[in-house]
Amino acid sequence: MIEEGIANKLRGIVEKGGYLDSPEDLINYSYDSSADESLPDAVLLPETTEQISEIMKIAGEFAIPVTPRGSGTNLSGGTVPLKGGIVVSLTRMNRIIEFSAANRYATVEAGLTNLELQNEVQKEGLFYPPDPASWAVSTMGGNVGENAGGPRGVKYGVTRDWVLGLKAVLADGRIINAGGVTAKNVTGVDLTSLFCGSEGLLGIVTEVTVKLLPVPPFQQSIQAFFKEIDHASETVARIIGSGIVPVALELMDSVVINMVEDSKHIGLPRDVAGMLLIMVDGVESECRKQTELIAEICKGEGATRIEIAKTAEEEDTLWIGRRSAFGVMSQKRPNCILEDVTVPVSKLPEAVKGIIEIGKKHRLTVGVLAHAGDGNTHPMIVADKRDKEEWKRVEEAITELFQLAVDLGGTLSGEHGIGISKKPFMPLIYKEPEFQLLKELKQVLDPKGILNPGKIMN
Ligand SMILES: Cc1cc2nc3c(=O)[nH]c(=O)nc-3n(C[C@H](O)[C@H](O)[C@H](O)COP(=O)(O)OP(=O)(O)OC[C@H]3O[C@@H](n4cnc5c(N)ncnc54)[C@H](O)[C@@H]3O)c2cc1C
Repeated sequence: MIEEGIANKLRGIVEKGGYLDSPEDLINYSYDSSADESLPDAVLLPETTEQISEIMKIAGEFAIPVTPRGSGTNLSGGTVPLKGGIVVSLTRMNRIIEFSAANRYATVEAGLTNLELQNEVQKEGLFYPPDPASWAVSTMGGNVGENAGGPRGVKYGVTRDWVLGLKAVLADGRIINAGGVTAKNVTGVDLTSLFCGSEGLLGIVTEVTVKLLPVPPFQQSIQAFFKEIDHASETVARIIGSGIVPVALELMDSVVINMVEDSKHIGLPRDVAGMLLIMVDGVESECRKQTELIAEICKGEGATRIEIAKTAEEEDTLWIGRRSAFGVMSQKRPNCILEDVTVPVSKLPEAVKGIIEIGKKHRLTVGVLAHAGDGNTHPMIVADKRDKEEWKRVEEAITELFQLAVDLGGTLSGEHGIGISKKPFMPLIYKEPEFQLLKELKQVLDPKGILNPGKIMN
């Protein structure tokens, strides 16, 4: 509960309608795309960096917890206001501030969605490579907060690789500018990267400058089906090892394939164990050579059916299944836990097999979806959190998934962040000296611990 005098001060900072505290509104901001929830005391919808600075000064003075929020699509509880307080939603800050086609960069407000940016720069023949599947709704600030990736990550990397600079408000209200707009910039320590993946713990990002690329002249996708899941996952390392750098290399197991087919009726075979979906881009003649070589590799590894898209329409059709997979799985049961344990590509076969075995052992429905080309697996567990016995099995399975990834030389998250859900597993990766350093960093930037308390290191 925010004391009335403080609430009035906060109301005075934002525009009309920018302070929400009705029970219905608070419920809307109490959860995200994870299974966690907790009510805030108020929600603020600022429209400028300066307003956020004023909000942080008041929050600091009265030690009020502040949870920065974009669209709340994160899958790890990052925007759940664990300790109540204020949610600062950036969605009203959604302008493109500057777009330079000549210099190939754009500076945008943090509440702009990824797709709005893509649509705008595409008019000039440019694109922004990071493409989280949530791009129609997830914001650029949220993409920075989680250091989001997407299917194109195999070739183009994650958000951090494309952020040239940013503006942020610190816990005490100070406004900082990190990085800049130049393609190269090694002036001092890289503060920009510090904020990528910082999950709203170090400051509130209000503007982001990203670099852009020309849209590749051609792209082509190829789909291959396998009777054995090992054959599908072993093919991934063969393709990467062949020297081809695909844009995307996705894997779906039979659980996901069948659920997608149940819902979408797109002709996916039901009697297969795995599917790979691979995209290349660049000069047309080179792409065609690469898809032929990929088809040969898939055949050599036992693929039973291979389809290469010949037109843009066929290209779209091939991707329908992959794009809809999470949505389809989410409709099956009240909860769909989408984890993102990540391993070195050569360990993918062991990881995929291990995930399937863990699902069987705990009698759970687990589908495997993976940005396989960079070892980033997405085990999807569908369950009902209200069923305590089932949920206990879910939690045991998740613990084993993380241990499996670490045993294979991997990590807890490739792109979804730690938030609440993976915090207990941090000691698997961060030992005392590194964890202490994280805490000290937090102490310097947010000594009162008001930014997103209860997450990662506080
Ligand atoms: C259907 C679906 C598909 C998805 N696909 C992908 C995918 O392919 N790849 C991927 O990486 N992720 C994916 N995600 C996860 C999610 O969409 C991403 O993490 C995304 O970057 C979150 O953006 P958002 O605007 O919703 O941020 P939010 O969920 O609102 O916030 C995410 C985190 O960033 C912090 N934050 C938000 N805005 C700011 C800011 N302005 N300043 C500082 N901190 C901030 C929050 O406190 C929180 O910790 C998917 C999610 C769904 C539901």
